[in-house]
Amino acid sequence: ASGGVRDSTQSNNQSSGTPSKADFFTRKQKIAQQRKSLPIASVEKRLVEEVRSNDILIIVGETGSGKTTQIPQFLFNAGFCHDGKIIGITQPRRVAAVSVARRVAEECGVELGQRVGYSVRFDDMTSSSTRIKYMTDGLLLREALLDQYLSRYSVIIVDEAHERTVPTDVLLGLLKSVQKLRSGSINQLPNIEHMKADNGALMDKKNDAQRASILKQCRVGIKLSPLKLIIMSASLDARAFSEYFGGAKAVHVQGRQFPVDILYTRHPETDYVDAALITIFQIHLEEGPGDILVFLTGQEEIESSERLVKERLRQLPEDKQMLKVLSIFSSLPSEKQMQVFMPAPTGFRKVILATNIAETSVTIPGIKYVIDPGLVKARQYSAHTGMESLIIVPTSKAQALQRSGRAGREGPGKCFRLYPEREFEKLKDSTLPDILRTDLSNAILQLKALGVDNILGFDFMEKPKSEAVVKSLELLALLGALTDEYKLSDPVGHQMARLPLDPTHSKALILASQFNCLEEMLIAVAMLSVESIFYTPREKLEEARNATKCFSSLEGDHQTLVNVYRASDEFFEKTKIGNSRENAEKNLRKWCKENFINSRSLRHARDIHRQIRENVEHMGLRVASCGDETIQFRRCLAATFFLNAALKQPDGTYKVLSSGQTVQIHPTSVLFRKKAECIIFDDLLRTNNNYMRNVTRIDYLWLPELAPQYYALKG
Ligand code: ADP
Ligand code: MG
Repeated sequence: ASGGVRDSTQSNNQSSGTPSKADFFTRKQKIAQQRKSLPIASVEKRLVEEVRSNDILIIVGETGSGKTTQIPQFLFNAGFCHDGKIIGITQPRRVAAVSVARRVAEECGVELGQRVGYSVRFDDMTSSSTRIKYMTDGLLLREALLDQYLSRYSVIIVDEAHERTVPTDVLLGLLKSVQKLRSGSINQLPNIEHMKADNGALMDKKNDAQRASILKQCRVGIKLSPLKLIIMSASLDARAFSEYFGGAKAVHVQGRQFPVDILYTRHPETDYVDAALITIFQIHLEEGPGDILVFLTGQEEIESSERLVKERLRQLPEDKQMLKVLSIFSSLPSEKQMQVFMPAPTGFRKVILATNIAETSVTIPGIKYVIDPGLVKARQYSAHTGMESLIIVPTSKAQALQRSGRAGREGPGKCFRLYPEREFEKLKDSTLPDILRTDLSNAILQLKALGVDNILGFDFMEKPKSEAVVKSLELLALLGALTDEYKLSDPVGHQMARLPLDPTHSKALILASQFNCLEEMLIAVAMLSVESIFYTPREKLEEARNATKCFSSLEGDHQTLVNVYRASDEFFEKTKIGNSRENAEKNLRKWCKENFINSRSLRHARDIHRQIRENVEHMGLRVASCGDETIQFRRCLAATFFLNAALKQPDGTYKVLSSGQTVQIHPTSVLFRKKAECIIFDDLLRTNNNYMRNVTRIDYLWLPELAPQYYALKG
C-alpha cells in the first residue's frame, strides 16, 4: 500500500483488495509515530501548564512544528473541554481550517464533524459533539454577533496571527474585551453604546431578554467560566502581540530546519509563469528525488499552469513522465485539498502548484524544492478612489524566507527564486497588516452590528487610517446600511450585517427583492463569489469562445452568468431523472467540460447559491424572477453598483464616475468587443491596466433616478 488515506484505498479495491486490518493499523501506527516525532511533542506537558497558569499565552514556532494540529489535542486531553465546552481555533484561510480539521480528525481516529470539526463560510462540518473546532477568523466574528460572550468556548486559539488579516485584527480586539467580560472584571463591552445581538432567527426583544438574563447570572455570581486565549504565530513578532495583550507571556517552540540552498536568476524574468514551468522540468530531469512546491498567485494561473505542465510532460520520453501535478488554493473543494498531502505514487515525484496558502497555513510533507517567483496577489484599497483592487505585488523578505524554509523541513533543500539577488535586497522587510491597506467596510459593518459605534476608539492592535474609516463609513451610509448619525440602520443595516457577503453584494440582494429579480441576483452573487466560472485555455481560445457564445448576453456579464447557471441547472435536473446522484454529477462535469465551464467553480457557486437563498428566505425577502423583463435586473444592478459606474471615452477606455479613474473592460467580459456607453462593474483588477471585471450595460439616466443619494448631490 502506498499509504493513502483510508477511503482512497477503499475505492481502489479492485486492484489492491479491501484494506486489511493490518493496513489500517500500520497507518494508525505511522500517524502515531509522526505525531511523536514532531518538535512540539516533547513540550506537551510544559505547554499545558503554561495554558493553565496564563489566561493569555503567545506561542511562536517554526511552521511545521505541530502547533496547529497538536496543541488543540493536548488541551482536549488535558481536560479543557469539561462541561461540553469547545476549543476553537481560527485560521485566516478556509482551506487551512478544512484541511487541518481533516488531519486532526484522522489523528484522533474520529469521524470528521464529530469530536473534531470545522466551520467556514458556506460549509459547516460540526455537530453537537464537536469539541475541537477549526474555523475561519471571520466565522468566529459572525458567531460573536449571536453570542457576545462566546460562552461555548473554553479556549480560543487565534492561529496564524502574523497574517494580520482584517478579521484577525478585529477578533483580537474583541476577544480582549470578551475575556475581561467573562472574568467579571467588566460587565459590558467597552465602547458599546447600544448592544443588540441579532441572529435573524430570534426577535431582537427575545435576544435582549437573553442578554439581560446572562448579565443577571453574572451579577448574582454564577459567573461564566473564564476564557483562555492563545495567540499563535509563525514569525517572530511575538513582542508586538505581547505588548498588545498587556505583557502577556510568550513561549517559543523550537522547530526543525535544515539548510536550504538559495538560487537566484541572473536577470529578471519577463514571464514568471513560463520561468516557473521551465524550472519545474529542470528540477524534475536533473535533480535528485524530492517533491516540488511552486508559489503562484491565484486559481486561474494555477489551473492554466497545471494544464501546461501536463502537456509538456506528455512530450517527454515515457520513463521521464513520472511527475504528479497537484494544486492547492483557497477555493478548492475540500475533498480535492487533501490530495496534496498524500505521498506521490511509488517512483513518482510530486509537484504542487500553490498560492501563498502553502507559505505558513498548511504544511505539505516531502517538499525538497521550492520555486518562488517572488509574487503574491494582494488586495489594495485606495482611500482616494474608495476602491479596492486585486494586484500582483512582490512578496516581502519575510515571505520569501518563509517560502524557502518550506524546502528544509525534512532534510536539506533548494529554493529557486525567479529573480536576481539584487531584487531581494529591495523587498520590504514584512507586509503591512491588511487593516492598513484594504477596504474596511465589511469589518466596520460587523463592528457596528456588535454594538461598537466609535470605530476609531476601538482597541485595535494597529489603528486603521482615519481617512479609510471615513471612506468606508461613507460607503456604508450611501448603501443605506448606516443612518445619518452613522448608526446601523433598521432594517437594511441589520440585514446587511447578517448576510455572509460583501456589503455591496448584500445590498444587491436586499434591493433585488424590491426590483422583483431576487432569483437572478442570488445566482449572480453566488457566481461572483467564486473565481473563474469560464475556463479558457490559451490554446483553445476560439473553441472556448464558440462554446460559451450561447450563454452570452449583450446586456452584460451578470446576465451571462445567470444564463450559464440556469443552463447548467436545467441540464442537471434533466440528467438526474433515472440517474444516480453520482452519475448525474458526473454528467454535469462532462457538460461543463464541453461548454468550457469550470466545474469546480460551478459546484462551489451552486453551494453558495443554496445557502444565501436560505439566508434571504429566512430574512423574509421575496424571491421572485423578473422573467423576460431583464431590464429590472440591470436597473437593480445600477441601483447597487452606482459607485462602480463608468462612462465610455472617445478612445475606447472608460472613466469611473465616482473617482475619475481611467479603466478598461477586462478582455474576458462579454462587453469587451461590444462596448456600451455606460456600464457598472463588480470589481477592479489591476495588472498593467485597471481592468473592470463583470460588467453590465446600464442607462446613464438611471443613476440620478436610482441613486439620488449620490448623483443628485453631484448635480
Ligand atoms: P504548524 O502549525 O506548527 O505549522 P502543523 O500542526 O500544521 O504545524 O503540522 C505539523 C505536521 O503535521 C506537519 O509537519 C506535517 O508533516 C503534518 N501534517 C499536517 N497536516 C497534514 C496532512 N493533512 N496530512 C499529512 N500530514 C500532515
Ligand atoms: Mg500552523
